[in-house]
Amino acid sequence: MIDAGALANAATRALRAYDPGHDLPALRKRFGANLAELGSNENPLGASPRAIAAIQAALPEVFRYPDPKGLALKAALARHLEVGIGQITLGNGSHELLMLIAQCFADASTSVAFSEFGFAVFPIATAAAGARAVRVPAMARDHATMPLGHDLEAIAQAIRPDTRLVYLANPNNPTGTWFDDAALENFLARVPATTLVVVDEAYAEFVTAAGLSTALRLLPRFPNLIVTRTFSKAYALAGLRVGYAISTPQVAAVFERLRESFNVNALALAAAEAALADQAHVAKGREWNLTERQWLGAQLHARGLRVLPSQTNFVLVDFARDAAAIESTLFERGVIARPMGGYGLPEFLRVSVGSRAENERLLAALP
Ligand SMILES: *Cc1c(COP(=O)(O)O)cnc(C)c1O
Repeated sequence: MIDAGALANAATRALRAYDPGHDLPALRKRFGANLAELGSNENPLGASPRAIAAIQAALPEVFRYPDPKGLALKAALARHLEVGIGQITLGNGSHELLMLIAQCFADASTSVAFSEFGFAVFPIATAAAGARAVRVPAMARDHATMPLGHDLEAIAQAIRPDTRLVYLANPNNPTGTWFDDAALENFLARVPATTLVVVDEAYAEFVTAAGLSTALRLLPRFPNLIVTRTFSKAYALAGLRVGYAISTPQVAAVFERLRESFNVNALALAAAEAALADQAHVAKGREWNLTERQWLGAQLHARGLRVLPSQTNFVLVDFARDAAAIESTLFERGVIARPMGGYGLPEFLRVSVGSRAENERLLAALP
């Protein structure tokens, strides 16, 4: 026997394996159609029928390697986003890209800044690159408009000469909170050009708030900006793993050095391209999500619970006491919610906006 853990490099020694929470395949067997899976922000409307048809059409070719450049999908994204093809990097989910960014640009001689309740991948990507994490306190829990949201002022002040990267999520997971275009622009104007700013826009397609569009429009003015998006949420293709980053071509060329050549599989490339072409399906999902999130929020509020503002397909619910017992009661009743203890928010649960039937099951199962 060897102590493999002790042989791991310094960065890996500091990491722990991802905890998936529950054994979902076992739970699906146990609860069948009565399971309400509200833990992972999946889109219950499902993917565009055009994406499903594209997967079926691509199936006979799976013995071949996928296009290593993903050019057809990149060209479609470039047209849709009005950027150059050379500005796009595809990933096996945007998770892979968030890791790749730190691997390419951060190391033990640098620091990486993010909000204390920012997306869980940010500290992992930082640690995996061996960089020092600068965890910036978030807005207060009782903040009038954006409780627990990113405090851009504090993040700007936390940047040091060695800060190579800043990770922001807008809207953010797990809080659902956001900052508007003007706030981001002010922030970017204060960041040194040698500090790269990642804006993770995994939920961009759900946004309806006034004043919030996308960081993309700031890319021509701020070449240190990197925007990431995903097909996992609004496009409902989480099982296929496709994400993309938009940056300057120079930054994209750096990613290209480390990116695995066949990181996005052939079925995923075909499905994503078809899903992108069906913007009517995305618009329908956005409308439906807005209505359903408002309904769910009102129902939870009527039960005396505080629901944080959200521009996503989930809500963060404040139970004002340790929510572990509530989570396990829900679990025993076949409703999966995401506990927040790992984020240091044990009195909160994050619940996805499910189908109306799932949301009703959640409400009925609340103790
Ligand atoms: C879900 C999510 C992602 C997307 O992950 P994929 O790897 O693309 O499935 C990225 N960022 C945030 C904030 C998310 O919530």
